[in-house]
Amino acid sequence: MTRQAVPPNKENLAAWLQYFDDLRIGGFYRDRGSVSAPSQTASAPVPLADENPELSELKVQMAKSKSAAPPLPAGSYIGFPLNPNLVPETTKAPAAKFDLQAVGRDASLFTELEKVKDDTLERIRADIGDCTRCRLCEQRNKIVFGSGSAKAELVFVGEGPGRDEDLQGLPFVGRAGKLLTQMIEAMGLTRDKVYIANVVKCRPPNNRPPEKDEVATCIPFLLRQLEVIHPKVIVCLGSTAAQNLLGTIKSISHFRGQWFDFRGMQLMATYHPAYLLRNPAAKGDVWKDLQKVMGVLGLKVPKAASKS
Ligand code: URA
Repeated sequence: MTRQAVPPNKENLAAWLQYFDDLRIGGFYRDRGSVSAPSQTASAPVPLADENPELSELKVQMAKSKSAAPPLPAGSYIGFPLNPNLVPETTKAPAAKFDLQAVGRDASLFTELEKVKDDTLERIRADIGDCTRCRLCEQRNKIVFGSGSAKAELVFVGEGPGRDEDLQGLPFVGRAGKLLTQMIEAMGLTRDKVYIANVVKCRPPNNRPPEKDEVATCIPFLLRQLEVIHPKVIVCLGSTAAQNLLGTIKSISHFRGQWFDFRGMQLMATYHPAYLLRNPAAKGDVWKDLQKVMGVLGLKVPKAASKS
């Protein structure tokens, strides 16, 4: 099937922002300075969510388009254009016993996410449909929605499907996926006990990182998935997932292995398995990170893994 997607340019991005605003989905790139840090922040905030010129430019665009739109109710945010039954977010306090850190003064771009009432993974999948919202539809074979348990306590978020995933419609089934499976098993878990998803659901051509507008188009579906599953822990695999969920352009090496509060869920970034395939020496760092995750989930290091 030939699919038509809107070609990438700044005007289209601006039109999308306008579209979100028209739907009263404000604050996508809101003024980050107006949000105070969670009181449970256990240690000095990490100054991540700042100094991003592209975000600043988008914020200016949003500010301009907002001036024409009616004000949003307090605490409202990006939300999703797909369902009118939005209910306000209830702010969950992060568990104080872990060293949770806010991202600067602001937990994320998505702190004020509103929930879709009675949302389910099935409904999110149905809302995605045979998506042509961005150009990634043009070359994809299958939409890779995500897989695993809807009740998972642990969700892994990657960047986007590669060739194997695109062909099979499943996340992390190629070489990097096999390594991820080993990592999951080293934690004493299986793939069906966790949930695995990506920032974008269609394969970017030649496995390039997804563009900003592609992420902006697709990430609301991931956010809904995270809200529905509401795991105890989210592990971002690689910088695309980490930077987009945390709203930073800082290198992942600056904050991997640290805990962040992500809307009442505990989020940690670690290196992407594809990076580990190229840099096996970094596996030790990732294993340390995963052991912290296991601590939070109350998992014991399996004997076989503890020896290696
Ligand atoms: N890399 C990703 O980030 N996601 C996948 O699903 C596969 C490889």
